[in-house]
Amino acid sequence: MVSALFSEAIFKPQVAVNRTIAGACKLGHARQMHQNRAAEASKHNAEISPILASLQEIHAKYQQDFSGKVATYIPELAKADTSLFGIALVTADGQVYQTGDANHWFTIQSISKPFVYGVALEDQGLDYVLSKVGVEPTGEAFNSIVFDERRNRPFNPMVNAGAIATTALIKGTGHDQRLARLLGKFSDLAGRPLSIDHAVYTSERTTGHRNRAIAYLELNFGMIDEPVNEHLDLYFEQCSILVSARDLAVMAATLANNGVNPLTGKRALDEPYVKNVLSVMYSCGMYDYAGEWSYRIGLPAKSGVGGGIIAVLPGQFGIGTFSAPLDEQGNSWRGIRACEDLSKRFKLHMFKSRLATGVVVRRSYRNTTVRSKRRRGAAAETILGEKGSSVCVYELQGSLFFSTMEQVLRQVTNDMDSFTYLILDFKRVLQLDECARALLAQTNEMLNRCGKTLLSAHLAEDRADSCEPGGQSGFFADIDSALEWCEDQLLQQEHPELLRERRKVPFAAMDILAGFDHRETALIESIAEEMRYSPGATIVREGDRADSLYLLAAGRVSICLRINDGARRQRLSTLSPGLAFGDVALLDGGTRSADVIADEPTRCYVLPFAKLQTLAVSHPEVFSRLIGNIGRELSARLRRADAEIRSLAD
Ligand code: GLU
Repeated sequence: MVSALFSEAIFKPQVAVNRTIAGACKLGHARQMHQNRAAEASKHNAEISPILASLQEIHAKYQQDFSGKVATYIPELAKADTSLFGIALVTADGQVYQTGDANHWFTIQSISKPFVYGVALEDQGLDYVLSKVGVEPTGEAFNSIVFDERRNRPFNPMVNAGAIATTALIKGTGHDQRLARLLGKFSDLAGRPLSIDHAVYTSERTTGHRNRAIAYLELNFGMIDEPVNEHLDLYFEQCSILVSARDLAVMAATLANNGVNPLTGKRALDEPYVKNVLSVMYSCGMYDYAGEWSYRIGLPAKSGVGGGIIAVLPGQFGIGTFSAPLDEQGNSWRGIRACEDLSKRFKLHMFKSRLATGVVVRRSYRNTTVRSKRRRGAAAETILGEKGSSVCVYELQGSLFFSTMEQVLRQVTNDMDSFTYLILDFKRVLQLDECARALLAQTNEMLNRCGKTLLSAHLAEDRADSCEPGGQSGFFADIDSALEWCEDQLLQQEHPELLRERRKVPFAAMDILAGFDHRETALIESIAEEMRYSPGATIVREGDRADSLYLLAAGRVSICLRINDGARRQRLSTLSPGLAFGDVALLDGGTRSADVIADEPTRCYVLPFAKLQTLAVSHPEVFSRLIGNIGRELSARLRRADAEIRSLAD
């Protein structure tokens, strides 16, 4: 019944947040005042945040290490300040940790490559992009002039040859439109408007003969098309985008968060391509150090000759570091060491399994133990007592993916012979991945073929609202409404008459009058007054003095508690015709403990307490049997509540 709709299961998107835990900055410019305050705050933050304290320790460890050399082949890069060093870590839900010169701007250089690759994938689709740029590591330097001759394409998008070919794939009419597209994308990834360092751009445009040679060779081989100079300009511009270590960490966190910027909540990269981007980063992101980086640090990463590095732990966070001096492979000396320390300290290697699948089915029970909040007459209760075991509920918890879903399916297979209806409750499920959704859809089909029905509660809140009264969609807002629907099905099969609530139940058929003869019934009926209520009417109000006992003749009423001074109502139960309410006050003489609201056009037989007291004097045996019946009904309810509580304690 739930069928393909499982594939549309929607979970709440990450909420946009902007929280920064800042460490000491060493900017020395106009931001000095702010920086002093930040440094002051950071002392306090580091005391209470072990994560920030770790970043600060690692920062302090390498700050005075002046090993490595700044890149000079682009003359403008040679001017970099070798003392600047910043580290930032941004979680996939938007918490920012940063220390040192994490707000200092520098040019992104090759770190633009994975992101432009992502944009090319969006613009041209996977197959076309793969036909133009491969995904094999070269083992050669980033600017080497080597091509995959067999496939007539550059080896991968992380080396210059591949990156220029990738940039050539960016759509748009003319240079300005294409540049605007790239800058817009990068700004979405970073969560702030980014711009270009024109000095660095001009410097590289004037001196980048090797890249120019690569591009023209690619044109010659038919790997890219004209206009070559426009592609080259775009490439030099993308390399000159100004970012900080913090920006890089946000961009990396956006990849960690499946393409949605965790600070702004805006999607910056189409979800299906994020894994493609991360894959090439993992195998080819760190120049000729890529293999060793993957082995030792174990995170998809990319570095640039400007001194930046990004690293991503998918689903968890992104790191951005900046320090201009480079090691022999062209990676930031301090950045590599900071990332290596972080990976070791926090055991970040991607291939270290950290998934504890735990117990996924936290509780399972049958309708015989836990009933819906619908209270029904004795005949219906008897049927549900006999048939309720065919309704099974699994309360699921945690994240659902292949191995956790497999646990659920194992239990379905075991229980299948004994249920007709299976309700899966997703209230505590954090995430349902594509694989779990597909397995659910298959399970649904399989159960349908066997004549069984799969229902879901709390799966997609927006869908649950659209549940038709008959529950035809298979989606229910909560377990209770799913259970109630199943109970209705069982009653419909066994005794459909019991579901005809609009038809008035005669006075003599009230549950509370069980065992009374015709004369006694007539006697009680003589003191009853019949009342009608329209839908929404309050029949009994919490706190009011109680003066009558109500017997529900037709329609439906709900017993509700007022929450937050009446701002919200919590439904305790819903009553069907044949049942009494307002009976507790008859026993204890107290005030009304809850509201009773008519859900539909409702008719009640009302027995005023004053007249019942007169009856108690004139016909004490009739009165005491009436009280006895009320007591029996109350004790049955108490037993059911006990059974439910016991099942909760399991
Ligand atoms: N713009 C630089 C180039 O193509 C980027 C190099 C890099 O960061 O690896 O030479």
